[in-house]
Formats: sequence, structure tokens, C-alpha cells
Amino acid sequence: MKPNSVTRRRLLLGVGTLAATRGVSKVWAQRPATLPLFMDGHVHITNRVYWEKAEFWQPQPGNWDYGRARASGINCIVDNLGTYGAWNYNYAPKMFLRLIETALRYAEQHKDKMAIVTTTADARRVIASGRMAVFLGSESGWDHEGDLDVLGAFYRLGLRSIQFATQTGFNAFADSEIAPQQGGQKSDHYHGINQKGRALIAEMNRLGMLVDITHGTNDAQRQLIEASKAPVVCSHVTMKTVAGVGMTDENLKLLASKGGVVGIHGGAAVVGKRYRKWMTEHPVEAKKINEALRNMLGYQPSQPRQPGDHGEYIEMFDREFGHAWRANGGWKELPELQPLVPTADEWAEQVDHVIKTVGADHVGIGLDMADGRSGVPRDAGGYGEILAALKKITTPANVTKICGENWFRVLDSAKA
Ligand SMILES: [Zn+2]
Repeated sequence: MKPNSVTRRRLLLGVGTLAATRGVSKVWAQRPATLPLFMDGHVHITNRVYWEKAEFWQPQPGNWDYGRARASGINCIVDNLGTYGAWNYNYAPKMFLRLIETALRYAEQHKDKMAIVTTTADARRVIASGRMAVFLGSESGWDHEGDLDVLGAFYRLGLRSIQFATQTGFNAFADSEIAPQQGGQKSDHYHGINQKGRALIAEMNRLGMLVDITHGTNDAQRQLIEASKAPVVCSHVTMKTVAGVGMTDENLKLLASKGGVVGIHGGAAVVGKRYRKWMTEHPVEAKKINEALRNMLGYQPSQPRQPGDHGEYIEMFDREFGHAWRANGGWKELPELQPLVPTADEWAEQVDHVIKTVGADHVGIGLDMADGRSGVPRDAGGYGEILAALKKITTPANVTKICGENWFRVLDSAKA
């Protein structure tokens, strides 16, 4: 380890007042040491552990690691295991098993600092012991066929939240909003969800797993909210009225009427109005800077799995997708775009809209820091900026709800 990285680690993990008094980081000055629950409901870290094999309790290149998140006050997350690329039928459950094993093993290796939790009571105990509580969620797919036995097995392994829509195409039970861009499939195959989707919801309600409607089409989102007996979440989303993209007020009101919660996304390309304007005005450059992310999310194996395969397919997948994953990391923003990256106050405009439309019980944090693009805050050391922005727009009681109690309420009511 180089001397400067040792110094950096001390600043990030060491005594906050030291950094603050030296003026090293404004974030440290805002360190929310007294917030009992400070939760980001949409994080991706186990995928990085799996594909990058790095130690994420130490500061790493890229925007999110446990060390910086914990140092800036975060003590609970939903880590979304993403089976990106494994969207061929039958391979998503295998990839999901690899990721869930990685998450459980990593937590065991760092049990002095973290624990995988399955209930909010567990989470409160872990947080009270000074550690990070980690719920496991799924993005992009766990089994594209929606097998109820597979669902039950993953529940036993600790999975507590499932996003219905994939990024890359319709699966056996729901349409995907961004399928045309990422995987070239149409987004209205079912005009929402089908009977299999409704059966899955019923089983998730029975078990007590959160239904996450993110990346569903408008119709799929509405039908998921209507079909679930329990409140649903949209874990990482913007509000269309404010950002120009994201959830409609109609769906927001419907979700809230059933007790649900939206987590507000932090990505510059969705939250940032100025940033989005640049992207619209520079379509060629915008496409280029998003290329690595698109290649990762929309990865398609160079060859289909052959009959009689004895492991050749998965070797090819690991080689090709591992490359696509790593190519997406280490995001560097274009200099001309840096001033256009949204501020925490711009992020909080989204929260403000939700509060004014449906009330403060229905909004939380879901930043989706995924290392393949810039956003707010710039990295996991900046959660204090989010907290400071929230304090400007609403009451301390509402800040407490938005910073985690709303997430806990929906986790508690997932069984219906
Ligand atoms: Zn997503």
C-alpha cells in the first residue's frame, strides 16, 4: 500500500474531528454520528466483491465501499445482488447463488464490522453493536422463469427484496421498461405483468419479501402495486414531474395509498436536469460515455450454450462478462460535465416533491451508486451532504423517516 493511500485510509476511517479541523473534508464536518438509523435502500457492493475481488472495507477506486459509507454515517443498506448478463434462462439462479454465497461469506469474514440481516429487529441489534446491517435484495433477476421453489430457497438464504423487472428484456412474469435500450426487446410483451407474476407476488406476500417495482414499465408498476397485499417499494427512482424521467405522480399516489416507499436515485443521468440537457444536446458523446455501462448491463454471450455443454459456456460467460464488468468501473467524468453533476440540494428536490405529493412517510434513500457513472454524492463518503440537504427541506422527524424508518416500516409489513 502506498503512503498516500495509508493517509487517505486514516482520514476516511479514523477520527472525524481530525479531518474536519484540518479542513480536509466538508463531509466529515457533517458526519451524522447521532443519527440512529441511516440507510441507503439501493446499493450494489457484492457484485464488486465478486467480480473485482477487492477489500471493500478499505477505500477503493470507484464510488461506493463499506469503509467510506460507514465513516459517513451509513449503518444499514439493502445490497442488490445483480445477475446482470446472466439473463439467459437457467443461468440467473446460478449467478444468484454465487452472489448470495459471496455476500454471506464476506459478511462472515468481516463479522466485527457487519452482518447480513433478515428482519428489522436483527438490523437494530447489529446497528446498536456499531456494525453495518445488510439486507439482501435482487436486481435484474434471480430466476427469469419465476419458479416458486427457487423463490422459497432464496428466501431461506436471506433474500428479502425482489425487483420484478430485468434491465434487458421481459422475463416470464413482467415487462421491463429499459429493455429496448439494453437488450433490444420490446417493453410491452405482457402490457404489465402476467398470471405468473401475480402468483409470485402472492408467494412473496406470504413469505414476507418486499416487492420492488423499479424498472417495470408504467403498466407493470401499476399492476404490481395493485396486485400486492403488502406495501411495495420502488427502490431507486426519480420523479417524472421533477426530473422529466421516472415515476409518474399517478403511480406515486397509488403506491403511497398502499403504504409503499420510493427510494430516490442519485445518478447524474437521471436526477440531474442540467446534466440530462447536455446529454440530449450531445447524443453522440452521451452514447459514448454510457457505452461501458450499456455493454455491462446489456451483455450478450458471444455464443449460445451448446447442447452437451460441460462447463464451456460458463467459462466463456465469466471471461466475457468479467471483462465487461471491469470495463464499466473506475468512472471518470468528462471535465465539461463536472459542473453539471447534480448537487445534494437538487437531489432533495425529488424528496420534496414526494413529501408535497403524498407525504414524508413514502420516501427514502436509494442512490444506486454503481461505479459506472457520476452522481450525488460523488462517493460513499458524501452521505453527510444528503443528510444536510434533507435537513434544509423538512423537519427532524421527517428526516428520521426518510433516512431509514420508512424503509424499516415497509420491511416490517412485507408479510401480508
Ligand atoms: Zn437499477
